[in-house]
Amino acid sequence: MAYSGFRVIWEGLRGNRGWQPAWRSPEPKAEYDAVIIGGGGHGLATAYYLAKNHGMTNIAVLEKGYLGGGNVGRNTTIVRANYCLPGNSEFYSHSLKLWEGLEADLNYNVMHSQRGLYNLFHSDGQRDYAARRGNAMVNQGDDAQLLGRDEVRRRLPYLDFDNVRFPVYGALYHARGGTARHDAVAWGFARGADRRGVDLLQNCEVTGIDIEGGKVRGVQTVRGAIRAKKVGIVVAGRSGQVAALAGMRLPIESHVLQAFVTEGLKPVIDNVVTFGMGHFYISQSDKGGLVFGGDLDFYPSYAQRGNLPMAEHVMEAAMTLMPAIGKAKVLRSWGGIVDMSPDGSPVIDKTHIEGLYLNCGWCYGGFKAVPGSGYSFAHLMATDRPHAPAARYRLDRFRTGRGLMDEEGKGAQHNLH
Ligand SMILES: Cc1cc2nc3c(=O)[nH]c(=O)nc-3n(C[C@H](O)[C@H](O)[C@H](O)COP(=O)(O)OP(=O)(O)OC[C@H]3O[C@@H](n4cnc5c(N)ncnc54)[C@H](O)[C@@H]3O)c2cc1C
Repeated sequence: MAYSGFRVIWEGLRGNRGWQPAWRSPEPKAEYDAVIIGGGGHGLATAYYLAKNHGMTNIAVLEKGYLGGGNVGRNTTIVRANYCLPGNSEFYSHSLKLWEGLEADLNYNVMHSQRGLYNLFHSDGQRDYAARRGNAMVNQGDDAQLLGRDEVRRRLPYLDFDNVRFPVYGALYHARGGTARHDAVAWGFARGADRRGVDLLQNCEVTGIDIEGGKVRGVQTVRGAIRAKKVGIVVAGRSGQVAALAGMRLPIESHVLQAFVTEGLKPVIDNVVTFGMGHFYISQSDKGGLVFGGDLDFYPSYAQRGNLPMAEHVMEAAMTLMPAIGKAKVLRSWGGIVDMSPDGSPVIDKTHIEGLYLNCGWCYGGFKAVPGSGYSFAHLMATDRPHAPAARYRLDRFRTGRGLMDEEGKGAQHNLH
């Protein structure tokens, strides 16, 4: 069923009785050409582009819970292409271009809103880095503008510009940055994949990976064995556990990242703002809640909930930058398990096992990568060749030390992060 304004009006007139489920719930087949482990944003996007770009439709996504129940439905929804280093620059640039055509492509309203992103800076050194990063973005063909203090004050009058410790010096402005509705992105890709014949199998946890003679043969699941010529692991915070099923030990740690939302308020923040001197960033959802977050809880965990010390730290940073926020009531907080790589950059690569592919290491920033990652991973799985924008996301960089892209990851010594 195609969605359109006409359809909404038509269904409204007849009591909304004609809507169909957005995707099927098929039984698992005995064999597929490819299976994707993980029904998060990246797994669903991979399946969608495998079907759309490479004509592979005898494929399945195996999700242990429900679609969108992982980080894709738990993040703070920021979409941007403001990376500095070669490798990341071209990848995120490609991903943002896909975002810009995504709703038309999927025929689904993912509420992508390019409301602009301000990265504040609070010292001369930070200004230098912002200028360098802005130049890298412009050289990549993306947008960036360095704003002085007066212009930022005019645009964001609610910030505390004269805080004695962290006065605002200015901001790097990325006009094409913004937000999207997180779970709608999962639902849009799920529907798009299903319409092209992909089987989406929920409550289908993978418990084993079958390997014979160095080749992948399929997977074991709680719904039975499934044979497959190709298997993609795309499980974000569970990457270490699932790769271990194939005897692999990854350079990935799983950490909790928290987010917070206030009661609904009248429009006050019409863009995204990040604090340069503390772990705090904020936007306002279309329902009116102020959505904000900070840093990791700082120890490895598989709990999808956070702890009070980091909550307190984020609130303190919020009050430092934006004292007016003290009047708002925090309604909810939650956590997600993020897959931290040592250099802060991801992996999209083949493994040493023929037919087994790996997509992981998205750290705290994989939501914006969803379309780009799915596109590139599908290319790799279908053709066995890396897709140019993701060609540097090699797994062996952590073994050889060549090609590391240190864009603020967890670091080899996590306590020094
Ligand atoms: C609080 C928070 C805020 C964030 N904010 C942002 C942001 O503003 N911008 C941004 O770009 N990024 C952000 N991120 C990061 C982003 O959400 C993640 O990097 C991204 O969603 C991870 O990819 P995914 O969507 O595929 O993961 P997930 O949605 O977690 O998908 C992985 C799936 O694999 C499934 N799975 C695991 N094990 C198995 C198994 N054995 N068998 C079958 N299925 C399995 C899981 O159930 C899960 O559904 C944030 C993350 C958090 C937690």
